[in-house]
Amino acid sequence: MSQAYQGACIIIPTKHAKSIAIAPPFWNHLGASVLEYYVDTDTLGTFSGEVERKGNALECARCKCEWALDLLGDKVEYCIASEGSFGPHPHFPFLPCDQEILYFIDRKRGFHLHVAHVTEKTNYQMSGLESWEQLQQFAESAQFPSHALIVRPNSREDSGVLFKGINTTTALEEAFKESRKVSTDGKVWVETDMRAQFNPSRMAVIGELANKLAQRLAAPCPKCIAPGWGCMKVEKGLHCEYCDQATEMIAHEIYGCVSCDHTETTPRADGLKAAPQMHCGCCNP
Ligand SMILES: [Zn+2]
Ligand SMILES: [Zn+2]
Repeated sequence: MSQAYQGACIIIPTKHAKSIAIAPPFWNHLGASVLEYYVDTDTLGTFSGEVERKGNALECARCKCEWALDLLGDKVEYCIASEGSFGPHPHFPFLPCDQEILYFIDRKRGFHLHVAHVTEKTNYQMSGLESWEQLQQFAESAQFPSHALIVRPNSREDSGVLFKGINTTTALEEAFKESRKVSTDGKVWVETDMRAQFNPSRMAVIGELANKLAQRLAAPCPKCIAPGWGCMKVEKGLHCEYCDQATEMIAHEIYGCVSCDHTETTPRADGLKAAPQMHCGCCNP
C-alpha cells in the first residue's frame, strides 16, 4: 500500500451520504479515512431544478472542495467532492447517461486532481403522465422502489408542490394524487431522483470512480515520487492492421505527474498493437 496518505483524513462535503461509496476504496488503497462534512451542497444546484447549477460540473466540483476547505480552515489538508450530470450520451444520443466527476485537492502538497467517467449504467428518465397505470409502468422501468422518484404537477409554474425521495408505493400514490389536484393540464411530472443516497446505481458509479481516484493517488511519480501519477491524455493514430494508415483509434497513453513536469508515453494499456480494418478510414471509408 502507498504510504502517501496513510492515516490521512480526507473531508468530503456532502448532504447525500456519499462516503458510503467513497470511503471503502480510499481505505483499501491508501489507508486513509474519509470523513463526511455536512454542507448544504444544494445551494450550488439541484437535479430537480429548484436551484440552477452555476458553471459546469467540473467547476462545481472544484467549488464544493474549495468551499469546504475555506469553511474548515488551514488544518484540513485534503478534500474530495463529487458532481454528477445526467443527459443524453455524448456518442449515442438515445441512451441516457451519467457523467460523474470526483475532484480532489491536496493542500499539503499543493495540487488538484480529478477523474471523470461517463456510463450508461443509469435509470435516468422523466415523463409527463396522465394515469396511475402509466406511473406504475414508469416506476417499474426506473427500478422503483430501490431507486426513488420525484413527482410534481406537470406544469412547472404550479404551486410549489414537489415530492422528492419517494420510495414507497403509499408515498407514490399520495404524491400522484396531490400533484394531479393542482396540475393545470391534469398531468403529473415524474422523474428519477438522482441524489446518490436515493439512487443505488449512481452510488455504485461513484464507487467505481472513487476506486480509480484512490488507485491513482496510490501511484507515485517515478521521478519525484509525489502521489497521483497516471494517464493525463491519449494520442490517437493506431495504425491499421492491413494498410498501415493511422486511424482514429488510440495509439498511446501519456502518463504524467501532478507535481512535476515528468511524463512517459506508453502503448495502449490493453496491448492492442494494430487497429482492426473496420476502424480504418482508408480500408473502410
Ligand atoms: Zn486500412
Ligand atoms: Zn513528479
